[in-house]
Amino acid sequence: MSGIVVTGVSKSFGSTRVLGGVSLDIASGEFVSLVGPSGCGKTTLMRIIAGLERPDSGRIEINQRDVTSIRAADRDVAMVFQNYALYPHLTVHQNISVPLVFRRLSAMERLPGVGRLVPGTGARRQEISALVRQSAGLLGLDELLARKPGQLSGGQRQRVALARAIVRQPKAFLMDEPLSNLDAALRVQTRKEIVEIHRRVGASTVYVTHDQSEAMTMSDRVAVMMGGDILQIATPEEIYANPVDLRVATFIGSPKINTQTAVVGDDGHVRVGHEPTGLSSPHRGVVTLAIRPEHLAPAASGQVGAGLSCSIDHVEFLGDSLLVHTRAAATSETMIVRIGGTNRAGLTRGATLTLGFNLTAALLFDAQGKRAAMEPTAVASAAAPERRVAHG
Ligand code: ATP
Repeated sequence: MSGIVVTGVSKSFGSTRVLGGVSLDIASGEFVSLVGPSGCGKTTLMRIIAGLERPDSGRIEINQRDVTSIRAADRDVAMVFQNYALYPHLTVHQNISVPLVFRRLSAMERLPGVGRLVPGTGARRQEISALVRQSAGLLGLDELLARKPGQLSGGQRQRVALARAIVRQPKAFLMDEPLSNLDAALRVQTRKEIVEIHRRVGASTVYVTHDQSEAMTMSDRVAVMMGGDILQIATPEEIYANPVDLRVATFIGSPKINTQTAVVGDDGHVRVGHEPTGLSSPHRGVVTLAIRPEHLAPAASGQVGAGLSCSIDHVEFLGDSLLVHTRAAATSETMIVRIGGTNRAGLTRGATLTLGFNLTAALLFDAQGKRAAMEPTAVASAAAPERRVAHG
C-alpha cells in the first residue's frame, strides 16, 4: 500500500517555475529524503504535500486518499520544521499535548476551569496525558515535562517538537531541515534518534535536507532534486554507485567525485588528452569521465600501461587516510585520490604520479550529463583480467 503519492505536481511563483511536474511514490512506512541545492524546490514540494501550498497542477494522495483539495489540518500529517515553533509560555507536557487537545476536546472543554465541569473531559484529559507521557518517553523527555522551552537546550527543544509530531500518531511525517539549528555533534545524535523513532512508529516520512550525508545515512531512498525536478530517486547505495545524471554524481559524495573531460574516438576508446583510459564506449565525441576518490590509486612503478598522469598539488591528512589533491597533466582538471593509511612516501607537492583506477567503478556521461554506456576495452581486460585497479 502506498503511503504518499505525488503525481505531476507543478508550481510557479509569478513567472518563476519552481516545480515542473514532479512525481514521487513513497511506500507505506518508507523514509524518503528530498535532497538538493538551495532553491531547487524541496520545501515547496513538501509544503504542497502538507497542504500549506496549492499546486498549479497535479495530485497528492496520502494512504490512498486524494487530499489535493483538502486543507492541511485534515490531511493527518505531522510536520517538524527547523524552527521548533514551541509555545514559550507552555510547559513541555503542554506543548506536546497541543495537537491532541485541539483534536479531542471541544472549545468549551478546553476552557480552563469551566471545561473541567463538562462530563467526560477529565477522562479525555487523562488519555491525552498518557499519550503525552508515552511519546515523551520515546524521546527521553520524561524528566523535562514540567520545564518551559526557554529552560531546554536546542537538541531537547527539537526532541519536544518531534514528540509533539508523533503524539497524534499521524499517517505521515514531513520534516523540513529539522536538524539545521543543532551543532554538528548533536545533529549526528539526533539523526540517529529520528531514524529510531521512524522505525518504531512506522509512518511514511518525507525528510527535506540540503545535506547529502544526512540524506544518505537516514533514508530508505533518496530523491535528488535540482531545478524543480527529481533527477533520480533510489537507495543511497544505488544513488552513490549508479547515478543517472552527472549532477547527481557530483552532488552526492564527499569529497566530490572526480570529473575529467574525455573524448571517445572513432575507434571507441575513451581518452583523456592522448592518454587511453582502458575504457571503450559506443558513444562518440566529448564525454565526462567520473571516478570517485576511493577508486583511484597510484599505479605501481614499472607496471605496463598508461593511467592518468597527474602532478600533486597538496596532501590532506585525515587521520586514517590521505586525500591527495592532484592535477591531470592532459586537462589540468583536479583529481582527488583517497589513499588508505598514512604513508606519505613519494607524495610531495609537485611530484608526478600515474593514477590507475577501478574500471568497473568509473562512470561515463554524455555532453548532456546523462549516463553513457562503456566497458573495459578488450586490450585492457585481456591484459589484466583479475585486477580491480587497472592502468590503461
Ligand atoms: P532551501 O534549501 O534554500 O530551503 P529549497 O530547495 O527548499 O531551498 P524552496 O524553498 O522550495 O527551495 O524554493 C524554491 C524557489 O521558489 C526559490 O527560488 C524560492 O525563492 C522560490 N519561492 C519559494 N516560495 C516562494 C514564494 N512564496 N513566493 C515567491 N517565490 C518563492
